[in-house]
Amino acid sequence: MIPALQTRGLSKSFGGFKANTDIGLSVAPGARHALIGPNGAGKTTFINLLTGVLPVTSGTIALHGEDVTGVSQQGRVRRGMARTYQINQLFATLTPIEALSLAIAERQGSGARWWGRVGTDSAVIDEAEALLKAMKLGGSMTRRTDTLPYGKQRLLELALGMACKPRLLLLDEPAAGVPEDERHDVLDSVAALPDDVTVLLIEHDMELVFSFADRISVLVQGALFAEGSVDEIAGDPRVKAVYLGEDALA
Ligand code: ADP
Ligand code: MG
Repeated sequence: MIPALQTRGLSKSFGGFKANTDIGLSVAPGARHALIGPNGAGKTTFINLLTGVLPVTSGTIALHGEDVTGVSQQGRVRRGMARTYQINQLFATLTPIEALSLAIAERQGSGARWWGRVGTDSAVIDEAEALLKAMKLGGSMTRRTDTLPYGKQRLLELALGMACKPRLLLLDEPAAGVPEDERHDVLDSVAALPDDVTVLLIEHDMELVFSFADRISVLVQGALFAEGSVDEIAGDPRVKAVYLGEDALA
């Protein structure tokens, strides 16, 4: 079986500092794979290598068996890799239905940058509406995005990632900073992502990970430290020690 994602010897140095060291990670198609680790472990750096935001120092990245190490960010998106997007200035002043419709039109290659034309395309609007409802944004579709509660803005970021129709979705701490009373909406929407989309979830919160993942890899100081099922990782005293050590430092 060809993995949805496979890295070999993936490394990234910033000057003399090794943020990622020799990471060999394999994510099975359809997996709910979580990458966890203490703050500063190198999780976001790893996502930046996967998506092409940063060039690798060494190693390779294969997406569904194809080497994409030298492929541009856009090229990786075209090949089915997507991440959640921070809501930019343009999208903040639009409503979720407008922002998502523009993202869908862009995927389709209409390259639309303004609402006037997209707003008349009923197929685009229907797709955007369905996605927003699936993300629990059905009741907030026509409010300006920057007036929405923070949790809803994070849900829109998730919807914007899904607008790329990804085969592999990379999530970097989707619930980070979301207030407690909105957290469940974000967790539920992540849990309800379609089965045929492979998900790699980067997360610091172990509780979230244990309820979501079928496979967990642990990154510590830039290197893979442990990998296993939820039960294996939850019961691994070495993993506990890493997190306890972090609490002691906090
Ligand atoms: P995590 O997401 O696991 O918290 P990061 O990948 O953000 O960790 O950071 C890992 C380490 O790499 C940190 O020590 C951070 O300071 C360092 N780092 C990240 N990005 C850069 C950069 N662009 N230049 C220099 N150091 C960086
Ligand atoms: Mg991070």
